Amino acid sequence: MTTRCITVLGATGSIGLSTLDVIRRHPGRFSVYALTAGTRAWELATLCREFRPKVAVMASERAADELRELLADCPDTQVLGGEAGLCAVAAASDADTVMAAIVGAAGLAPTLSAVRAGKRVLLANKEALVMSGQLFMDAVIASGSELLPIDSEHNAIFQCMPADKIRDPKAAGITRILLTASGGPFRTMAAEELRSVTPSQACAHPNWSMGQKISVDSATLMNKGLELIEACWLFNTTPDRVEVHVHPESIIHSMVEYADGSVLAQLGSPDMRTPIANGLAWPERIEAGVAPLDLFAIGKFHFERPDLQRFPCLRLAAEAFASGGTAPAVLNAANEVAVEAFLDGKLCFADIPVIIERTLAATPVVPASDFDTIFTKDAEARSRAREQISLLSV
Ligand code: NAD
Ligand code: MG
Repeated sequence: MTTRCITVLGATGSIGLSTLDVIRRHPGRFSVYALTAGTRAWELATLCREFRPKVAVMASERAADELRELLADCPDTQVLGGEAGLCAVAAASDADTVMAAIVGAAGLAPTLSAVRAGKRVLLANKEALVMSGQLFMDAVIASGSELLPIDSEHNAIFQCMPADKIRDPKAAGITRILLTASGGPFRTMAAEELRSVTPSQACAHPNWSMGQKISVDSATLMNKGLELIEACWLFNTTPDRVEVHVHPESIIHSMVEYADGSVLAQLGSPDMRTPIANGLAWPERIEAGVAPLDLFAIGKFHFERPDLQRFPCLRLAAEAFASGGTAPAVLNAANEVAVEAFLDGKLCFADIPVIIERTLAATPVVPASDFDTIFTKDAEARSRAREQISLLSV
């Protein structure tokens, strides 16, 4: 049994809490070095009392002060604040494994810090990889970091590939990746009805319980677009070799097709603790608290092609990947701004792709030559997306 010391970035989120639930089940195997959160200090304080990390980090100094006060009687946990603190715990030599589960572009710097320090990085924060693509993968290769996919589809693909050939699918005899998608809560809804859907409808995913941002991404199919890009970088392949299959039951988490006609699939209950446990213990297997699969109860599997007319975000993501350079970073930033506006009641659901498309059209693509360029384009795209939202509402 390999023991591991873990930092959980985004500990209070949906993935963070599932990670801690797996860790809790294996006290002799896993210990916690650091826990981090964005804003809600009291939630992190509760987790610190249970897991007794050496360090706890809040995204801002103000939130860190709040946490310090809440943990005044826990002198063994040092409290830090700000992005520098997040990057420091991600790279600290005390931990060997980092769960990257901050949502959105805010996760790029800390995740990269873990990568550069050569950690085992459990990648849930797909936006970090989508934004920086080749630069991110170059950093993984340069440091020898062990990057393991946590996104359920990518973890399934990883499990269906020979472990020593995940970046060389041709040599493994792989012809296609079949990326499954649930289709989200509006899969069967008419285009006109999509204009009036509410944030709470969008966040009520039929199969998965997740954070708000990824729930909206699943409803627009942008999540599948981000995952298409994520798959291309993780498995060193191209979009023509990745085919999205809408599979509303969310039991087959993805498949890999081989030259001899074999198709390998990974199945399981829709519970993120399976891919999380796989990443934490890999190559060993551990209990994750997941309900066993009852195929008799499920009965049937269905497959459909995605409808790019009603859900243009998947097309926009594929186009941004084809444009290359900074286009995926712009796509991601515009999506984050549009989703936030939708959640705040300032943008209608059907206008999310409109804002992204206009932002992409208004932001020239430049080569992604370094991380500074990515961060600059991210900021530029955010202000252009906000501009486009204000133009729509006049
Ligand atoms: P969530 O919103 O539930 O949690 C996000 C976490 O990040 C929280 O701990 C929050 O405090 C922290 N955070 C937010 N903004 C921050 C900031 N600016 N700085 C530092 N920390 C910040 O999100 P989630 O659903 O757990 O998703 C996390 C990541 O995992 C996302 O990238 C998502 O796409 C990916 N993912 C999630 C699921 C899922 O089932 N939830 C599945 C696959 C991939
Ligand atoms: Mg996924």
